[in-house]
Amino acid sequence: MIVFMERHSISEQVDRVVAELGTFGVRTTACVQDGRVALIAERAPMPEIIERIQALRGVAEVLVIGGSSRLGSRAYRSADSTVRVGDVVIGGPEFVVAAGPCAVENGEQLADVAAAVALSGATMLRGGAFKPRSSPYSFQGLGPAGLELLAEQRARTGLPVVTEVLEPAQVGPVAERADMLQIGARNMQNFPLLREVGRSGHPTLLKRGLAATVDEWLAAAEYVLREGNGNVVLCERGIRTFEPATRFTLDLSAVAVVKRQSHLPVIVDPSHGTGRSWLVRPLALAAAAAGADGLLVDVHTDAHNALCDADQALTAKEFDELMRSAGRVLGAVDRPLACSPALVEGM
Ligand code: PEP
Ligand code: MN
Repeated sequence: MIVFMERHSISEQVDRVVAELGTFGVRTTACVQDGRVALIAERAPMPEIIERIQALRGVAEVLVIGGSSRLGSRAYRSADSTVRVGDVVIGGPEFVVAAGPCAVENGEQLADVAAAVALSGATMLRGGAFKPRSSPYSFQGLGPAGLELLAEQRARTGLPVVTEVLEPAQVGPVAERADMLQIGARNMQNFPLLREVGRSGHPTLLKRGLAATVDEWLAAAEYVLREGNGNVVLCERGIRTFEPATRFTLDLSAVAVVKRQSHLPVIVDPSHGTGRSWLVRPLALAAAAAGADGLLVDVHTDAHNALCDADQALTAKEFDELMRSAGRVLGAVDRPLACSPALVEGM
Protein backbone atom coordinates (compact mmCIF):
# COMPACT_ATOMS: atom_id res chain seq x y z
CA MET A 1 0.00 0.00 0.00
CA ILE A 2 1.18 3.54 -0.76
CA VAL A 3 -0.28 6.61 0.96
CA PHE A 4 0.26 9.79 -1.06
CA MET A 5 0.15 13.01 0.89
CA GLU A 6 -1.10 16.20 -0.68
CA ARG A 7 1.60 18.41 -2.15
CA HIS A 8 1.19 20.97 0.63
CA SER A 9 0.70 18.55 3.51
CA ILE A 10 2.57 19.46 6.68
CA SER A 11 4.87 17.21 8.68
CA GLU A 12 2.35 16.81 11.53
CA GLN A 13 -0.11 15.33 9.03
CA VAL A 14 2.51 12.91 7.75
CA ASP A 15 3.41 11.92 11.34
CA ARG A 16 -0.26 11.33 12.10
CA VAL A 17 -0.61 8.84 9.22
CA VAL A 18 2.60 7.06 10.25
CA ALA A 19 1.41 6.84 13.87
CA GLU A 20 -2.08 5.69 12.93
CA LEU A 21 -0.73 2.86 10.78
CA GLY A 22 1.82 2.08 13.48
CA THR A 23 -0.95 1.40 16.00
CA PHE A 24 -2.13 -1.41 13.70
CA GLY A 25 1.39 -2.79 13.43
CA VAL A 26 1.92 -1.48 9.87
CA ARG A 27 5.38 0.00 9.37
CA THR A 28 5.96 2.62 6.68
CA THR A 29 8.90 4.22 4.94
CA ALA A 30 8.63 7.72 3.55
CA CYS A 31 9.96 8.91 0.21
CA VAL A 32 9.27 11.74 -2.20
CA GLN A 33 7.59 10.82 -5.50
CA ASP A 34 6.79 13.42 -8.15
CA GLY A 35 7.08 16.18 -5.55
CA ARG A 36 4.76 14.60 -2.95
CA VAL A 37 5.48 12.60 0.18
CA ALA A 38 4.62 8.93 -0.31
CA LEU A 39 4.40 6.57 2.67
CA ILE A 40 5.07 3.04 1.54
CA ALA A 41 3.57 0.47 3.90
CA GLU A 42 5.12 -2.95 4.34
CA ARG A 43 1.68 -4.50 3.95
CA ALA A 44 -1.90 -3.38 3.39
CA PRO A 45 -4.04 -3.22 6.56
CA MET A 46 -7.74 -4.22 6.78
CA PRO A 47 -10.10 -2.29 4.45
CA GLU A 48 -11.70 -0.33 7.32
CA ILE A 49 -8.28 0.92 8.41
CA ILE A 50 -7.50 1.99 4.84
CA GLU A 51 -10.72 3.99 4.88
CA ARG A 52 -9.66 5.69 8.12
CA ILE A 53 -6.30 6.60 6.61
CA GLN A 54 -7.97 7.96 3.50
CA ALA A 55 -10.06 10.29 5.65
CA LEU A 56 -7.07 11.80 7.51
CA ARG A 57 -6.10 15.40 6.77
CA GLY A 58 -3.34 15.85 4.25
CA VAL A 59 -3.89 12.46 2.61
CA ALA A 60 -4.36 12.76 -1.17
CA GLU A 61 -4.87 9.12 -2.11
CA VAL A 62 -4.19 5.56 -1.05
CA LEU A 63 -3.12 2.96 -3.59
CA VAL A 64 -3.28 -0.67 -2.60
CA ILE A 65 -0.32 -2.25 -4.42
CA GLY A 66 1.51 -5.23 -2.95
CA GLY A 67 4.67 -7.14 -3.84
CA SER A 68 8.14 -5.71 -4.24
CA SER A 69 7.52 -3.76 -7.44
CA ARG A 70 5.18 -0.92 -6.55
CA LEU A 71 6.44 2.42 -7.87
CA GLY A 72 7.58 0.64 -11.03
CA SER A 73 4.28 -1.16 -11.56
CA ARG A 74 1.49 -0.46 -14.03
CA ALA A 75 -0.86 -0.30 -11.03
CA TYR A 76 1.06 2.79 -9.89
CA ARG A 77 1.29 4.35 -13.36
CA SER A 78 -0.63 2.88 -16.26
CA ALA A 79 1.01 5.00 -18.99
CA ASP A 80 4.53 4.25 -20.24
CA SER A 81 7.13 6.41 -18.55
CA THR A 82 9.89 8.14 -20.46
CA VAL A 83 13.43 8.92 -19.38
CA ARG A 84 15.28 11.92 -20.76
CA VAL A 85 19.05 11.62 -21.21
CA GLY A 86 20.36 14.91 -22.56
CA ASP A 87 18.18 15.52 -25.62
CA VAL A 88 17.37 11.83 -26.04
CA VAL A 89 14.06 10.44 -24.78
CA ILE A 90 13.94 6.73 -23.97
CA GLY A 91 10.55 5.03 -23.83
CA GLY A 92 8.81 7.56 -26.08
CA PRO A 93 7.68 6.96 -29.66
CA GLU A 94 11.25 6.79 -30.99
CA PHE A 95 13.56 3.76 -30.80
CA VAL A 96 16.92 4.72 -29.32
CA VAL A 97 20.30 3.09 -29.99
CA ALA A 98 23.30 3.45 -27.65
CA ALA A 99 26.49 2.11 -29.20
CA GLY A 100 30.21 2.17 -28.55
CA PRO A 101 33.05 0.06 -27.25
CA CYS A 102 32.62 -2.31 -24.35
CA ALA A 103 35.56 -0.55 -22.67
CA VAL A 104 37.15 2.85 -23.25
CA GLU A 105 40.72 1.85 -24.17
CA ASN A 106 42.40 5.09 -25.29
CA GLY A 107 41.56 8.43 -26.88
CA GLU A 108 42.05 7.35 -30.47
CA GLN A 109 39.97 4.18 -30.13
CA LEU A 110 37.07 6.04 -28.52
CA ALA A 111 37.19 8.89 -31.05
CA ASP A 112 37.10 6.43 -33.97
CA VAL A 113 34.23 4.39 -32.57
CA ALA A 114 32.24 7.46 -31.48
CA ALA A 115 32.48 9.05 -34.92
CA ALA A 116 31.52 5.81 -36.64
CA VAL A 117 28.46 5.09 -34.50
CA ALA A 118 27.29 8.71 -34.63
CA LEU A 119 27.45 8.75 -38.43
CA SER A 120 25.51 5.49 -38.61
CA GLY A 121 22.73 7.05 -36.55
CA ALA A 122 23.39 6.02 -32.94
CA THR A 123 21.69 8.37 -30.47
CA MET A 124 23.90 7.66 -27.46
CA LEU A 125 27.51 6.66 -26.84
CA ARG A 126 28.30 3.70 -24.56
CA GLY A 127 31.69 2.82 -23.11
CA GLY A 128 32.94 1.46 -19.82
CA ALA A 129 35.52 3.43 -17.86
CA PHE A 130 35.21 1.17 -14.82
CA LYS A 131 34.89 -2.44 -15.95
CA PRO A 132 33.49 -5.30 -13.86
CA ARG A 133 35.62 -8.19 -15.18
CA SER A 134 35.16 -11.82 -14.18
CA SER A 135 38.95 -12.23 -13.98
CA PRO A 136 41.05 -9.82 -11.89
CA TYR A 137 43.78 -10.21 -14.56
CA SER A 138 41.62 -8.79 -17.37
CA PHE A 139 41.69 -5.10 -18.39
CA GLN A 140 39.81 -3.22 -15.65
CA GLY A 141 39.16 0.00 -17.57
CA LEU A 142 40.88 3.40 -17.58
CA GLY A 143 38.91 4.69 -14.60
CA PRO A 144 38.62 8.51 -14.27
CA ALA A 145 40.73 9.04 -17.42
CA GLY A 146 38.10 7.05 -19.33
CA LEU A 147 35.38 9.39 -18.06
CA GLU A 148 37.31 12.38 -19.43
CA LEU A 149 37.59 10.71 -22.83
CA LEU A 150 33.85 9.99 -22.86
CA ALA A 151 33.09 13.62 -22.00
CA GLU A 152 35.36 14.76 -24.86
CA GLN A 153 33.50 12.58 -27.33
CA ARG A 154 30.16 13.79 -26.07
CA ALA A 155 31.28 17.34 -26.77
CA ARG A 156 32.49 16.34 -30.24
CA THR A 157 29.57 14.18 -31.38
CA GLY A 158 26.67 15.58 -29.35
CA LEU A 159 25.84 12.03 -28.19
CA PRO A 160 24.93 11.67 -24.50
CA VAL A 161 27.11 9.15 -22.70
CA VAL A 162 26.19 6.05 -20.68
CA THR A 163 28.84 4.40 -18.53
CA GLU A 164 28.96 1.95 -15.65
CA VAL A 165 29.33 2.58 -11.91
CA LEU A 166 30.67 -0.26 -9.80
CA GLU A 167 30.42 1.12 -6.29
CA PRO A 168 28.58 3.85 -4.36
CA ALA A 169 31.66 6.10 -4.10
CA GLN A 170 31.83 6.34 -7.91
CA VAL A 171 28.27 7.59 -8.32
CA GLY A 172 28.97 11.28 -7.63
CA PRO A 173 32.07 11.61 -9.84
CA VAL A 174 30.58 9.57 -12.69
CA ALA A 175 27.28 11.50 -12.57
CA GLU A 176 29.27 14.73 -13.00
CA ARG A 177 30.80 13.43 -16.23
CA ALA A 178 28.24 11.05 -17.76
CA ASP A 179 24.62 11.54 -18.79
CA MET A 180 23.45 8.12 -17.68
CA LEU A 181 24.71 5.70 -15.02
CA GLN A 182 24.79 2.02 -15.89
CA ILE A 183 24.36 -0.62 -13.21
CA GLY A 184 25.79 -3.81 -14.65
CA ALA A 185 24.38 -7.31 -14.46
CA ARG A 186 26.84 -8.28 -11.74
CA ASN A 187 25.68 -5.40 -9.57
CA MET A 188 21.92 -5.68 -10.07
CA GLN A 189 21.50 -6.61 -6.43
CA ASN A 190 24.20 -4.36 -5.00
CA PHE A 191 21.70 -2.60 -2.76
CA PRO A 192 23.96 0.21 -1.45
CA LEU A 193 24.82 1.03 -5.09
CA LEU A 194 21.15 1.00 -6.12
CA ARG A 195 20.29 3.37 -3.26
CA GLU A 196 23.14 5.74 -4.05
CA VAL A 197 22.21 5.86 -7.73
CA GLY A 198 18.63 6.49 -6.60
CA ARG A 199 19.74 9.40 -4.42
CA SER A 200 21.71 10.90 -7.32
CA GLY A 201 18.50 11.36 -9.33
CA HIS A 202 20.60 10.72 -12.45
CA PRO A 203 19.20 8.72 -15.42
CA THR A 204 19.99 5.08 -14.73
CA LEU A 205 20.30 2.01 -16.92
CA LEU A 206 19.65 -1.09 -14.83
CA LYS A 207 20.81 -4.32 -16.42
CA ARG A 208 19.20 -7.61 -15.55
CA GLY A 209 21.33 -9.90 -13.37
CA LEU A 210 22.81 -13.02 -14.95
CA ALA A 211 20.48 -15.22 -12.92
CA ALA A 212 17.75 -12.80 -11.91
CA THR A 213 14.05 -13.39 -12.42
CA VAL A 214 11.93 -10.57 -13.83
CA ASP A 215 10.49 -10.01 -10.35
CA GLU A 216 13.96 -9.67 -8.82
CA TRP A 217 14.94 -7.25 -11.57
CA LEU A 218 11.88 -5.09 -10.97
CA ALA A 219 12.53 -5.25 -7.21
CA ALA A 220 16.05 -3.94 -7.87
CA ALA A 221 14.57 -1.05 -9.91
CA GLU A 222 12.31 -0.32 -6.96
CA TYR A 223 15.38 0.46 -4.81
CA VAL A 224 16.27 3.27 -7.22
CA LEU A 225 12.69 4.52 -7.62
CA ARG A 226 12.12 4.57 -3.85
CA GLU A 227 14.88 7.15 -3.47
CA GLY A 228 12.81 9.48 -5.66
CA ASN A 229 14.70 8.75 -8.88
CA GLY A 230 12.11 7.94 -11.51
CA ASN A 231 14.65 7.97 -14.35
CA VAL A 232 15.13 4.23 -14.60
CA VAL A 233 15.53 2.32 -17.86
CA LEU A 234 15.75 -1.49 -17.75
CA CYS A 235 18.12 -3.47 -19.97
CA GLU A 236 17.67 -7.14 -20.86
CA ARG A 237 21.15 -8.60 -21.44
CA GLY A 238 20.67 -12.35 -21.32
CA ILE A 239 20.55 -14.86 -18.51
CA ARG A 240 22.50 -18.02 -17.67
CA THR A 241 20.88 -21.16 -18.93
CA PHE A 242 22.12 -24.67 -19.80
CA GLU A 243 22.72 -23.59 -23.44
CA PRO A 244 26.43 -23.16 -24.24
CA ALA A 245 26.01 -22.12 -27.93
CA THR A 246 25.56 -18.51 -26.85
CA ARG A 247 27.35 -16.63 -24.05
CA PHE A 248 23.99 -16.04 -22.37
CA THR A 249 20.41 -16.70 -23.44
CA LEU A 250 18.84 -13.43 -24.51
CA ASP A 251 15.38 -13.51 -22.96
CA LEU A 252 13.28 -11.46 -25.35
CA SER A 253 10.08 -12.71 -23.75
CA ALA A 254 11.17 -10.71 -20.69
CA VAL A 255 10.72 -7.52 -22.74
CA ALA A 256 7.04 -8.26 -23.25
CA VAL A 257 6.62 -9.47 -19.65
CA VAL A 258 8.22 -6.32 -18.22
CA LYS A 259 6.21 -4.08 -20.55
CA ARG A 260 3.05 -5.66 -19.21
CA GLN A 261 4.01 -5.40 -15.54
CA SER A 262 5.94 -2.14 -15.48
CA HIS A 263 5.72 1.35 -16.98
CA LEU A 264 9.54 1.64 -17.16
CA PRO A 265 11.29 1.71 -20.57
CA VAL A 266 13.17 -1.46 -21.57
CA ILE A 267 16.09 -1.73 -23.94
CA VAL A 268 18.01 -4.82 -25.09
CA ASP A 269 21.74 -5.57 -25.21
CA PRO A 270 22.20 -8.20 -27.94
CA SER A 271 26.00 -7.99 -27.60
CA HIS A 272 26.41 -9.23 -24.03
CA GLY A 273 23.24 -11.27 -24.51
CA THR A 274 24.78 -13.44 -27.21
CA GLY A 275 28.55 -12.92 -26.94
CA ARG A 276 29.00 -13.49 -30.69
CA SER A 277 29.12 -10.66 -33.20
CA TRP A 278 27.25 -12.67 -35.87
CA LEU A 279 24.31 -13.14 -33.49
CA VAL A 280 23.96 -9.45 -32.66
CA ARG A 281 22.09 -8.43 -35.81
CA PRO A 282 19.34 -11.11 -35.75
CA LEU A 283 18.71 -10.62 -32.03
CA ALA A 284 18.79 -6.82 -32.30
CA LEU A 285 16.18 -6.93 -35.04
CA ALA A 286 14.07 -9.37 -33.02
CA ALA A 287 14.27 -7.00 -30.03
CA ALA A 288 13.11 -4.10 -32.19
CA ALA A 289 10.16 -6.17 -33.40
CA ALA A 290 9.37 -7.44 -29.89
CA GLY A 291 8.64 -3.98 -28.49
CA ALA A 292 11.94 -2.96 -26.90
CA ASP A 293 12.49 0.80 -26.61
CA GLY A 294 16.06 0.63 -27.86
CA LEU A 295 19.38 -1.20 -28.02
CA LEU A 296 22.77 -1.15 -26.33
CA VAL A 297 25.35 -2.41 -28.82
CA ASP A 298 29.10 -3.07 -28.59
CA VAL A 299 30.96 -1.57 -31.56
CA HIS A 300 34.73 -1.42 -32.14
CA THR A 301 36.64 -0.15 -35.17
CA ASP A 302 39.36 -2.77 -34.51
CA ALA A 303 37.03 -5.45 -33.15
CA HIS A 304 39.56 -8.32 -33.22
CA ASN A 305 41.92 -6.44 -30.93
CA ALA A 306 39.32 -5.10 -28.50
CA LEU A 307 40.58 -5.29 -24.90
CA CYS A 308 37.19 -6.38 -23.67
CA ASP A 309 34.58 -8.74 -25.18
CA ALA A 310 36.21 -8.79 -28.64
CA ASP A 311 34.03 -11.67 -29.87
CA GLN A 312 30.80 -9.74 -29.61
CA ALA A 313 31.79 -6.31 -30.97
CA LEU A 314 30.39 -5.26 -34.33
CA THR A 315 32.68 -3.52 -36.79
CA ALA A 316 31.66 -0.03 -37.89
CA LYS A 317 30.39 -1.48 -41.19
CA GLU A 318 28.35 -4.19 -39.47
CA PHE A 319 26.84 -1.58 -37.15
CA ASP A 320 25.92 0.59 -40.12
CA GLU A 321 24.17 -2.35 -41.78
CA LEU A 322 22.37 -3.14 -38.54
CA MET A 323 21.06 0.42 -38.27
CA ARG A 324 19.69 0.29 -41.81
CA SER A 325 17.93 -3.03 -41.20
CA ALA A 326 16.63 -1.85 -37.83
CA GLY A 327 15.04 1.14 -39.54
CA ARG A 328 13.16 -1.21 -41.88
CA VAL A 329 12.02 -3.56 -39.09
CA LEU A 330 10.90 -0.60 -36.98
CA GLY A 331 8.97 0.72 -39.97
CA ALA A 332 7.03 -2.55 -40.00
CA VAL A 333 6.02 -2.04 -36.35
CA ASP A 334 5.31 1.69 -36.85
CA ARG A 335 8.15 2.94 -34.71
CA PRO A 336 10.57 5.63 -35.87
CA LEU A 337 14.29 5.26 -35.23
CA ALA A 338 15.56 8.29 -33.27
CA CYS A 339 17.86 10.45 -35.32
CA SER A 340 21.45 11.00 -34.25
CA PRO A 341 22.39 14.62 -33.41
CA ALA A 342 25.50 14.03 -35.53
CA LEU A 343 23.33 13.45 -38.61
CA VAL A 344 21.11 16.42 -37.79
CA GLU A 345 24.06 18.76 -37.31
CA GLY A 346 26.12 17.25 -40.15
CA MET A 347 29.17 16.21 -38.08
C1 PEP B 1 28.62 -3.78 -20.25
O1 PEP B 1 27.58 -3.40 -20.80
O2 PEP B 1 29.71 -3.27 -20.46
C2 PEP B 1 28.57 -4.91 -19.29
C3 PEP B 1 29.59 -5.19 -18.49
O3 PEP B 1 27.43 -5.61 -19.36
P1 PEP B 1 26.78 -6.63 -18.30
O4 PEP B 1 26.78 -5.95 -16.98
O5 PEP B 1 25.41 -6.85 -18.87
O6 PEP B 1 27.61 -7.86 -18.33
MN1 MN C 1 31.39 -6.18 -22.03
